[in-house]
Amino acid sequence: MQINDLGGYLKKQFGCKVYKLSLVGCTSCPNRDGTVGVGGCIFCSENGSGEFAEKTKSSVADQIEAAKTQVAKKIKEGEKVKYIAYFQSFTNTYAPIEKLRKMFFAAIRHPDIAVLSIATRPDCLSGEVIALLNELNAIKPVWVELGLQTIHKKSAEYIRRGYELAVYDEAVKSLHQIGVSAIAHMIIGLPGESEQMIYETAEYIGKTADGIKMHMLYVQKGTDLYTEYQKGQVPLLDMDEYIGILIGCIERLPESVVIHRMTGDGDKKTLVAPMWTANKRHVLNSISVRFRAVEIKQGRLFQKY
Ligand code: SF4
Repeated sequence: MQINDLGGYLKKQFGCKVYKLSLVGCTSCPNRDGTVGVGGCIFCSENGSGEFAEKTKSSVADQIEAAKTQVAKKIKEGEKVKYIAYFQSFTNTYAPIEKLRKMFFAAIRHPDIAVLSIATRPDCLSGEVIALLNELNAIKPVWVELGLQTIHKKSAEYIRRGYELAVYDEAVKSLHQIGVSAIAHMIIGLPGESEQMIYETAEYIGKTADGIKMHMLYVQKGTDLYTEYQKGQVPLLDMDEYIGILIGCIERLPESVVIHRMTGDGDKKTLVAPMWTANKRHVLNSISVRFRAVEIKQGRLFQKY
């Protein structure tokens, strides 16, 4: 088995390095404004409204240029690169369709953009949004990221996700019908979930989605999870435990599923715990070392993430 990591996948698809440009599209969420819920998911912070408000004043084209400047130092002189226009924060299909059309077309028509990636909720993919994604996908590849986090009902209620698993299933089906890739997010280490439960979520994603993003549950100031954490109600995994479970998840995924993320780091200004997640490079190196040990044991190959 070979790990189908995002870097390798993009290199195969585009023949060059592909950088993500984080753009701000929609700044609302039905799980915050009362449509589905108030207060949002238990781990979700309001995400620096000042910074986001500033960014949304810029056009998509200006945001792309500013984001390209930020990654420019990583690019060698003369190196050919492409970019992913990534609408990441909040729920990026939760706005009037004309706004979405303008925003996504501005991104996908930009000559440097190779992929349009949109993070959203599965309950925010109406028929007209799916029709728009279909139009966009005819121009360049479109990815849709869905914040599933867990397949377990009790955990979904605990994190106040605000939709049933069947809604995710339906969303993935609709995306696949128009040839759009579905990438599911999953959180490892939710309170009350056993190792087996975590593996069940990974297996489910492996059977339904085209890609997966995994990260450790982390606590940020200003969230309701932080309040629970202060009361001692949120046990957290240490890095070794996390990596062991992560590898167990990867082993359960089909090779066709692209691994977009193996660790996540919250906003360092508000991160409370676990602090080991803040050192992403160290976590990735440790994952690589652990995986190498497993591959040596099992005679498999691990491509560096
Ligand atoms: S995590 Fe996403 S779906 Fe949940 S409240 Fe935050 S923006 Fe909304």
